[in-house]
Amino acid sequence: MKIQQPILIVILCCLGVTAPENPVMAQKPADEYLFNDSHFHLTNYIQEGITVNKFLEIMGSVVGRSTLFGIPLQQEWSYQNSGSYAPTYYLQSDAPLYYYSFTDAYIAMQYKALSKEQQARLDPMIIGFNPADMYGVKHIERVLRTFPGVFTGIGEFSIHKEFVSSKVAGETASLTNPALDSILDFAGRVGLIVLIHSDIDVPFAKPTAEAVYLSQMKELLKRHPATTIIWAHMGLGRVVHPVGYSSIEPGERPSDQVSIIEDILSDPAFSHVYFDISWDEVAKYIVTNSKTIQNSASVFEKFPDRFLFGTDIVAPPDQKFYLSVYEMYAPLWKVLSPTTSEKIRKLNYTKLFDAARLKVRMWEKANISK
Ligand SMILES: [Zn+2]
Repeated sequence: MKIQQPILIVILCCLGVTAPENPVMAQKPADEYLFNDSHFHLTNYIQEGITVNKFLEIMGSVVGRSTLFGIPLQQEWSYQNSGSYAPTYYLQSDAPLYYYSFTDAYIAMQYKALSKEQQARLDPMIIGFNPADMYGVKHIERVLRTFPGVFTGIGEFSIHKEFVSSKVAGETASLTNPALDSILDFAGRVGLIVLIHSDIDVPFAKPTAEAVYLSQMKELLKRHPATTIIWAHMGLGRVVHPVGYSSIEPGERPSDQVSIIEDILSDPAFSHVYFDISWDEVAKYIVTNSKTIQNSASVFEKFPDRFLFGTDIVAPPDQKFYLSVYEMYAPLWKVLSPTTSEKIRKLNYTKLFDAARLKVRMWEKANISK
């Protein structure tokens, strides 16, 4: 049932909840925006980037809404390792990465300084927790209590990420760690939307072997049916190829990755699971050639409600840079039906993030005393 906007506002006011304002409607008709961004990093691996005001300027009238988060990990500048060379990316140093919890406070303060109209366009996410620590969930709750009215979800945080996981100081994160279960369980209870990065496979995997982390990921997802979970990048990475990617000539393959995704989306046990197609490293697989585009489009058309576009751009200096991933996908946008394209670019975002906002605000109202 579709509740009319004025009636919805009355219901929400009675609940003491401010309705997620629809900035798209307020500022520009939704169909004039290119997309809503389900995956965006304001800051980089050394916690530097652009201000949120700058980001809003970059979104301009081209992008409707966006998630807002930094990066949970800080690259240490070890003088013993790289001397006076200051690394800004995890591939530029052998020194470890460590969890940088202050990122959540930074994002919250940036957000709180905005006008209501500006805030309505953004969905801040909590990321500064260690998913291998049984106390990780406590950090998330503390952030909600310190900054009520700000956050919509948690993530992007990583469990298995090529070149990154092995560099993180302390215990290695795992899909089987009960610490992660407690986090997903809490997210479900609060209504926080979850954006999780976990590679489906190890880097440079043998084309014939089973994806190493697939069954663990499926078990994890199954254990949390009440939590809305977006599996970032469909489990892919720079060198974590789509399953079966190099088994036969490009353009010839019956993409196994596609059937894995189809199996998950067809199974009611995963009805709470979504995928994002963010990152230029993911776009490169999808737009390899007309076959890969068609293979991908077929699964998007079959499950148009389960995919979200995101850029995964980090701290863009300008709009041209920010729109580059969207533009890489031009061949895909061309073949998708208008309805499916609209859902992946915009509507699935508003549906999921509006629902999460509402639930989190209600949890805050019920659980945080003033
Ligand atoms: Zn990302």
